[in-house]
Amino acid sequence: MIETDALILGAGPAGLFQAFQLGLQEIRAHIVDVLPYAGGQCAALYADKPIYDIPGVPVCTGRELVASLQQQAAPFAPTLHLGQEVTTFSTLPDGRLQLATSAGTRFVARALFIAAGIGAFQPRRLRIAGIEAFEGGALHYHAPGAAAVAGRHLVVAGGGEEAVASAIAFAQAAPASLTLLHRRDGFEAEPAQLAELQRLRDAGRIQVVTGQPTGFVADTEGRLTQLVLSHAEGPDTPLALDLLLVRQGLSPRLGPLADWGLAMERKQLVVDPASCLTSLPKVYAVGDINHYPGKKKLILCGFHEATLAAYDAAERLQTARKVVVEYTTTSTRLQGLLGR
Ligand SMILES: Cc1cc2nc3c(=O)[nH]c(=O)nc-3n(C[C@H](O)[C@H](O)[C@H](O)COP(=O)(O)OP(=O)(O)OC[C@H]3O[C@@H](n4cnc5c(N)ncnc54)[C@H](O)[C@@H]3O)c2cc1C
Repeated sequence: MIETDALILGAGPAGLFQAFQLGLQEIRAHIVDVLPYAGGQCAALYADKPIYDIPGVPVCTGRELVASLQQQAAPFAPTLHLGQEVTTFSTLPDGRLQLATSAGTRFVARALFIAAGIGAFQPRRLRIAGIEAFEGGALHYHAPGAAAVAGRHLVVAGGGEEAVASAIAFAQAAPASLTLLHRRDGFEAEPAQLAELQRLRDAGRIQVVTGQPTGFVADTEGRLTQLVLSHAEGPDTPLALDLLLVRQGLSPRLGPLADWGLAMERKQLVVDPASCLTSLPKVYAVGDINHYPGKKKLILCGFHEATLAAYDAAERLQTARKVVVEYTTTSTRLQGLLGR
């Protein structure tokens, strides 16, 4: 069980900046995200696309923004717990908050900062009965490391940018064979990606197969050896493989959060805009997940909310210190915390 001052639920831009703002208030934080990487929507939905409205940053990609936010929070070393969903929440008799994740990690926190965005991102799974038994072994929904692919017969399933980008990337990882599988003809990806895919197809490094996966075959030792593909016309066909990466996109799910007794409006958590406190004591909500009059679902609004929440939490938790607004430019306390 991990005891912490603050638990941040969600490692999107709001959650990462929350860790920085709490650090300035000398409040240490742990961050949990169901995705195996930090960055929320910026990393999952538009990592390589430009953002033009971050104050003082004329342009950066989603990936670059996430890297900068992590670098900015690094002096406070927030502990990241990735690949796990926060599933349960309760208040202990002493007022502290108890939470647990799908991976069995348990936290007791003095304050909770919900930065859950539009929900916990879950990969769209294959709808084939029994195939879930191979998850984490021959079946992956998030890209494994390149070493896991070398010498394997890899099938990447999906028709969008994620699938095309994964196939292109893994063509460099020396697979024994590489197949891109899509339910129908044609892929939805950037022109440059499509051109690279065509180049790799022409070079015989990626083969493209069309069909709807509807079944699988395992060998006597329980290893996944084939997908069964159905077609609009004609009989089913087998597709040999020993590694399957499904990249059919991510879909957000509000999940158990909705049952924690927090006041909600249209699937968002109602907060006091002065503090970002929810209807429960010591529980804050920042970023896309919260709602107050005039709320805008923009990254910079999440940054503002994280700042207000950190000041409010400091006033409630840091009883030994008078909390006043300080500038990083002139405060020796803040510069000391930042290691400057
Ligand atoms: C295509 C696109 C382009 C955009 N462009 C811009 C732009 O140019 N400028 C701009 O300001 N905004 C833009 N946005 C909006 C911006 O991305 C969001 O406002 C921002 O990501 C919200 O940040 P967040 O941290 O609140 O939530 P998110 O980024 O959604 O992160 C929330 C995280 O919480 C995790 N999570 C949720 N529930 C749980 C749980 N129970 N357990 C564990 N983890 C959980 C999720 O997996 C997710 O990683 C864009 C959005 C999209 C989709």
